[in-house]
Amino acid sequence: MDKTDRFGIWASAKARRRHLGLRIVTAVIAAAVLHFALGWWMTWFWSAAFVATQMLEAWAAPRLLRNPIATPAEAANIAVALFFPGALVFGGLAVALWISVPGYGPALGVAVIASAMINLIALSRGSRLAFAASATPYGLYLLVMPMLDYGRIAGPLLTTMMIAVGLVMLNIIGAWISTEEARRAQMQAAEEAEHRRAEAEAAVEAKSAYLAMISHELRTPISAILAGAADLERTTPGQSRAQARLIQSAGRMMRGLLDDLLDLSKIEVGRMEVETVPFDLRALVNEVVRMWRPEARRKGLRLRVEGARDLPDWVQGDPTRIRQVLNNLISNALKFTAKGSITLRLSARPAADGWSVQVAVADTGPGMTPDQVARLFTPFDQLDAGTARKHGGSGLGLAISRELARLMGGQLIAASAPGQGAVFTLDLTLANAQAPQAADPAQEVIEARVLVIDDHAVNRQAIALVLAPLGITPETAASAEEGLERLARERFDVILMDVYMPDMDGREATRRLRAQPGPNQAAPVIAITASATERDWEACHAAGMTGHVAKPIEPAQLYAALEAALAAAEAREAA
Ligand code: ADP
Repeated sequence: MDKTDRFGIWASAKARRRHLGLRIVTAVIAAAVLHFALGWWMTWFWSAAFVATQMLEAWAAPRLLRNPIATPAEAANIAVALFFPGALVFGGLAVALWISVPGYGPALGVAVIASAMINLIALSRGSRLAFAASATPYGLYLLVMPMLDYGRIAGPLLTTMMIAVGLVMLNIIGAWISTEEARRAQMQAAEEAEHRRAEAEAAVEAKSAYLAMISHELRTPISAILAGAADLERTTPGQSRAQARLIQSAGRMMRGLLDDLLDLSKIEVGRMEVETVPFDLRALVNEVVRMWRPEARRKGLRLRVEGARDLPDWVQGDPTRIRQVLNNLISNALKFTAKGSITLRLSARPAADGWSVQVAVADTGPGMTPDQVARLFTPFDQLDAGTARKHGGSGLGLAISRELARLMGGQLIAASAPGQGAVFTLDLTLANAQAPQAADPAQEVIEARVLVIDDHAVNRQAIALVLAPLGITPETAASAEEGLERLARERFDVILMDVYMPDMDGREATRRLRAQPGPNQAAPVIAITASATERDWEACHAAGMTGHVAKPIEPAQLYAALEAALAAAEAREAA
């Protein structure tokens, strides 16, 4: 109901307006049927009067109710003006019948009033005033009609009639009250359900914010562990090297779990976004297969690819998310298959402006029962209690993969039977794209002065390790204030800025840098953050940051962001 319709009159008027045609037609038919009792003249006269009151009500309602009603007295006046005349005229039919039909007249009259009042119960739901304004004339008629017979019928009979009429009234008012109570209970239940839904939504939001915060906190040390272990593996000999590799693989596992939890929390609150960029699909599939070959070999499984030639190369889509889905499917297939092979069946058909691509990952593993297949995409469900102990994992991969496929406008389906392996099929439609002509920046040595502003020492070290292969030794600052001080004095080519820092955050620092004239006022600032939603990036750009890189830092991403920032700065200077 409209919030401004405090007295429910607008709702009643609307309900009556909806049934206007039906009301007029039934009233006129009833009058026509009863013409034998009323005579044609009376029938026409009454029908015309009734139609006139109804038209008047329909015309007046929107005008009288244009502004919200302020006081109960005003509401009562409007209700009487709108609903009283119609009831007065309709009830007149009952009086006419009562008087003119010998014997059955009173019964017909009471029947007419009772049916009008029952109709009223439905039409004035929620408005006591609307009910009262229409019911009053009917009630008066019921009381007055027996009086018309005063003198004609004996006293006890008249008393009995009055009592019967009183009972009819009471029952009708009782029926209205109970429908009102039922309506209120229904509204209350709906409000309660809405309240619960809002509470549950808020709880999911809070949980996902908490998850995002925890994973942000954990990503920082994990990035450092991974970068440190990679460095150790490169620089130390023998036994220590194997241990460094172990640290790396444990770190990657932790990062994988964190990524899954973060993805799930984003999906749950509808904040997962997919991007559309040009990428080389064939190269992507090749890379994924190349990455899993050693693992397949180690387990004595064959990893085969069929139909690679059919695949287009440059298409538009989200390469990171497609890679994530394929990695999940191949990792599962390898995990659950003890012997035999894993086959990637690739196919592509031209579709409107692009390609309809299908990637099926088939294994010769144990397969699943129909019941297990039905539960496959449920978050945290590993089908079997022993799975986590034997194979690890979180039971999130497939739930996330299916949701990603949907977000990319495709689907992920599974088919399997016990003892017959499993086939997971990813269907996507990808638009055509032009091959870009960029060179690989990671291999070059870059001449640049870089300042890293980050409150975590491990993060600063991790970034320094990632930058080392480019021949860059970055300068560092442990807080936004310290960073701004240095930026006011010395010129840098690029600034890598942590977004979340305790006293002043990276966005505020960038805003201040841009606001003050100085040697770095226009220098590129790359945001480094674990909170990687589109909205976060937008806020970074709005603060004046020129690029962004997600934590944990992927070297290739940082190199690409550096390259882009330096190229843009060079172009600006040349202009
Ligand atoms: P995780 O692998 O992390 O446990 P997933 O969502 O990727 O989570 O998979 C859920 C469950 O589905 C797995 O624990 C496993 O029981 C079952 N499953 C997935 N892929 C296969 C497969 N290829 N063959 C048999 N069972 C599978």
